[in-house]
Amino acid sequence: MKRDIAALADRQFDVAIIGGGIVGAGVARDAAMRGLSVALVEQSDFAGGTSSRSTKLVHGGLRYLEHFAFRLVAESCRERKILLEMAPHLVRPLSFLLPVYDGDTRSLSKIRTGVMLYDWLTPRHDAMPAHQTLSPSEAASAEPALAGSGLQGAVRFHDCQMDDAKLCIETIADAHRHGAVVANYCRVTGFRREWERLVSLQAVDQVSGDNIEVRAKLFVNATGPWVERIAKLATQSDGAITLSPTKGVHLVIPRVNREHGIYFQSRNDRRMIFLLPWDDASLLGTTDTDFDRDPGAAHADKTDVEYLLNQMRLCAPDVSVRESDIITSFAGVRAIIRSDRRRPSSRSREARIVRHNTNLLSVAGGKYTTFRAISEKAVDRACRILGVRGTRCRTQETPLPQTRPPHAGERLADSPDVFASDITHSCQSEMPVTLSDLIRRRTRLALSQRGDESVARKVCDIMASELGWNDSAKRQMLANYLSEWSASRASA
Ligand SMILES: Cc1cc2nc3c(=O)[nH]c(=O)nc-3n(C[C@H](O)[C@H](O)[C@H](O)COP(=O)(O)OP(=O)(O)OC[C@H]3O[C@@H](n4cnc5c(N)ncnc54)[C@H](O)[C@@H]3O)c2cc1C
Repeated sequence: MKRDIAALADRQFDVAIIGGGIVGAGVARDAAMRGLSVALVEQSDFAGGTSSRSTKLVHGGLRYLEHFAFRLVAESCRERKILLEMAPHLVRPLSFLLPVYDGDTRSLSKIRTGVMLYDWLTPRHDAMPAHQTLSPSEAASAEPALAGSGLQGAVRFHDCQMDDAKLCIETIADAHRHGAVVANYCRVTGFRREWERLVSLQAVDQVSGDNIEVRAKLFVNATGPWVERIAKLATQSDGAITLSPTKGVHLVIPRVNREHGIYFQSRNDRRMIFLLPWDDASLLGTTDTDFDRDPGAAHADKTDVEYLLNQMRLCAPDVSVRESDIITSFAGVRAIIRSDRRRPSSRSREARIVRHNTNLLSVAGGKYTTFRAISEKAVDRACRILGVRGTRCRTQETPLPQTRPPHAGERLADSPDVFASDITHSCQSEMPVTLSDLIRRRTRLALSQRGDESVARKVCDIMASELGWNDSAKRQMLANYLSEWSASRASA
């Protein structure tokens, strides 16, 4: 997958997609597999928005049952099974413990009822085992962090964990394999219209500064939390879609979990919080607070950090993690469709596909877990608008190819497992433009204890020889990465 900007301008595409997050990726792959000609442009790096900042779960969403979102949970459980089969190298089953302590608002029997319903909504022949109830001593021996006074027991249930950024990039690479022309660092700045019809999008190549025009019969706005802005740019009117965006923060802390994910109840606001195993570390999150600024500016602030660490201390008082122990942090913005619900965590996570003008579809809301189903619906709709008949979605039964090369060269890290050959392969086939692109989204190094300068230098050397960087470019790339790395620690 090479960056070929000229190929974006040399024809009229059936579909031009704005946004290289998981929804844009899924739409591009599905449309290209159905034989449509497809272009995709992303303003920063692929997965540079929300799709690398999630909790990294492919899950039914147990907590949505409290809001009676049965349709969403059933669809998510179905999609969990499909994604597990589609990308077993990036999506893997994970067992969770949900502990209940004296004074928790949700009792053990309420949790058990919820999990029974969850099992019932899981498709038959799913690889997920049924739930179990654990006594306090069983729960504490499975996950010592849970041992504490007042533990009444825990429920063990099963979902999946994924590498969100990598799944997005591999989906885009597969779209490219099926003929899509894709480019990162191309920012859409406007549209050319003829009456109500969009004729082309205008973009700026963020690498060269050149202007680009991409002509298409249909445009798909898959810009996640930016969806309102792009809809406004295209329709030149407000209100085409309205969001109530919320920010979600995660902290990466030294490893606490033994092998389970822990899903615990906050002691003072009824929210549910995850503490998940992640390579040599644990992920603690998330928050859910209204956020109306530029989604690209979201970061963990002091209040977020204190909130998350306090909640963990209340659940696991014997685990000592101080602010200075935080390895890194990240924040994403949920594109939640506006509703009357006051509490952010009770607002619907369903997706909506809206048609504006005659040839623009905006995809808003939704979960990572349901991206394939959302993309299928969007491409079905695109085919109807384009008058394309006789195509069938094939993403459900077509696995993503596993392209990781056999290990070779120096082992740069063991948790996550990264070899020099992975860096070379990524440079040749995953379109990284900067050192950060590679370390943050094409490996998991930046969310581990190994994202530091010593490994970054080695990755930078390999990239320089693959991509032809001179000494000054190398210095600049390294400095940029290290300043992002220390900012993500400092904000925490
Ligand atoms: C904190 C948090 C935790 C979450 N956890 C989970 C989870 O565990 N499981 C789950 O299923 N879901 C989860 N979600 C939801 C999930 O992450 C999102 O639904 C999903 O990533 C959205 O993908 P997207 O492609 O719509 O948006 P994005 O990934 O944000 O992609 C949109 C892209 O559009 C690009 N763009 C914007 N403007 C322009 C422009 N002018 N020109 C070109 N490109 C542009 C952006 O740069 C961005 O890359 C979570 C969300 C958050 C915020």
